[in-house]
Amino acid sequence: MDKVKRLTERIWYTDADERTDRPVLGYVSGDMASLMVDAGNSRQHAAILTDGVVAKGLAYPRYVAITHWHWDHCYGLSGIGAVSVASLETNLKLIEMSEWEWTDRAMSRRIETGEDILFCDENIRKEYPDRSLIDVKTADIVFDGLLQIDLGGVTCILMKLPNSHSEDSVVAYVPEEKVVFLGDITSEDFHNGTGSHHREKLGMLIEALEWMDFELALHGHDEPRSKEYVLDYLREELELLGEIL
Ligand SMILES: [Zn+2]
Repeated sequence: MDKVKRLTERIWYTDADERTDRPVLGYVSGDMASLMVDAGNSRQHAAILTDGVVAKGLAYPRYVAITHWHWDHCYGLSGIGAVSVASLETNLKLIEMSEWEWTDRAMSRRIETGEDILFCDENIRKEYPDRSLIDVKTADIVFDGLLQIDLGGVTCILMKLPNSHSEDSVVAYVPEEKVVFLGDITSEDFHNGTGSHHREKLGMLIEALEWMDFELALHGHDEPRSKEYVLDYLREELELLGEIL
């Protein structure tokens, strides 16, 4: 079955797979270079996208951009022969995680200290029956706030936005295709014990997305959605927190 799906003229993606919490991977095809959005949770995961695009006669990605530091979006980096790009904050976490040990003891200790959460721990164990294969890489290019990459006929703008899910999160916005890759930026905060949205940050994220000109959004663990769908969901979440727009 063809796992790489076409979204628009220049954009392809693979679906999320909840069995080991694999997120959506994206691909933007430029005339000069192409860019992969998120590296996936393992080499095997990344290869579904990279092998899939090459099989279609598309170029192997020159760049791979990471939306945020959570393992499922970046542990595939070691299997991708592309220039990796991440925000300053994301890269600091990559540096930290590159020194993590993967013994049972080290893993359960990180759950106790709150450095990691049980949901990720369980899925890492499923994705990596042999955890000695985990190889966390840091980024080749690090940016602060915003980075625009011209791929030839199409651009990708990596942009840090306020959000509840993870401080370091960026979206990958492709204005020519009116598409935005959200990573998990519209999700709740699961790493700081709350599992909910933060009212102020959510309000600012809604404003930013309202302003952005896009038609389709790809969340890391969902199917493609319209701008209206995403904003309706976020406004509902905000109302639940007691704020009326
Ligand atoms: Zn996440």
